[in-house]
Amino acid sequence: MKGFRVELQELSKRFGVMEVLKGLSLEARPGELVALLGPSGCGKTTTLLLVAGLYRPSRGRILFDGRPVDHLHPKDRDIGMVFQSYALYPHMTLEENIAFPLRLKRVPLREIKERVKRIADLLGIGDLLGRRPAEVSGGQQQRAALARALVKEPGLLLLDEPLSNLDARIRLQARTEIRRLQLDLGITTLLVTHDQGEALAMADRVAVLAEGVLQQYDTPETLYRRPTNTFVAHFIGDPPMNIYRGRFTPRGFEGEVVWPFPEGWNPPFLGEGFLGVRPEDLQVVWEGEGLPARVLLKEALGREGLLTLVLEAGGQVKALVPGGVPFHPGDGVKVRYVPEALHFFDSEGRRVGDGVAPARGA
Ligand code: ATP
Repeated sequence: MKGFRVELQELSKRFGVMEVLKGLSLEARPGELVALLGPSGCGKTTTLLLVAGLYRPSRGRILFDGRPVDHLHPKDRDIGMVFQSYALYPHMTLEENIAFPLRLKRVPLREIKERVKRIADLLGIGDLLGRRPAEVSGGQQQRAALARALVKEPGLLLLDEPLSNLDARIRLQARTEIRRLQLDLGITTLLVTHDQGEALAMADRVAVLAEGVLQQYDTPETLYRRPTNTFVAHFIGDPPMNIYRGRFTPRGFEGEVVWPFPEGWNPPFLGEGFLGVRPEDLQVVWEGEGLPARVLLKEALGREGLLTLVLEAGGQVKALVPGGVPFHPGDGVKVRYVPEALHFFDSEGRRVGDGVAPARGA
């Protein structure tokens, strides 16, 4: 199976006066898994339906392997789709459900049987083919829907929140399985999700959308380390980054938090902007160097604890600490960090610099 190279060029979609997708351009390489990530209503599903051919773009083009597909009917686009509601036919067995797209294509019966068995075995539901959807678990239904999408050996797989009906544990297992299968088959995949953990775990690259506009298209690592603006910075990472509005001064940052920088550090610019720092990039110690603070709240997250701290200089910050450390509300502590932990954004929320405060005079 060979995946398409998929290109979206300046893709826009209007419904009446509302433009829900605004000039989206991105490319998925053959075999790549690209996640479309963003909050509800940002245009993820609309993008998928445009690629599927179920919606027509208001502007822009879609190309598979360099060829425009806008004139092609959905069934002629060579895609497999799995949506949130798996929409298996309840009166058919899993075998009949999975075979359905091949029967439509009038594939010979013997070949259908072989191909259905092969893909079902690959997905671990080979023994359940005689059952109806109501007679198997949610996870098994989800795999049957995936098998039905893959049995045609399409050039592109479209997944719209395919895991959201599963409970948390099966969900984790299912995402590993889908990713493994997708890598094995080398099938280009667009995955719609609002769950940043799912996007980061599964995707080669993630397109972060907000209100129909692409914010950043990058690898999970780059999104996490170098978010291009405060929206991405806040959306990627759990617990979310601490982000404050205020002013950078030669001494540090003053605003929603007062954050003096150590002697010898300079912010990359002076004036209005945002300061960001991830809870996991802060170290909380009892004494020594660091910003003086007091513990306000401790939330146990199992392996780790999330502290809400009140900084002595002003403002609050959340910090992730090892679960076993006995911090309690009221304790006086020090907050430490390395220069690379700080993210700087201008007054429009756009990233400035590499997050390293250069030494004074540098
Ligand atoms: P969700 O995660 O909630 O599904 P989404 O990011 O997938 O969100 P879309 O379904 O793409 O969002 O919708 C984007 C916007 O377009 C929303 O404001 C939605 O109300 C609107 N919209 C979607 N389909 C239509 C339609 N057929 N007619 C009018 N407006 C629509």
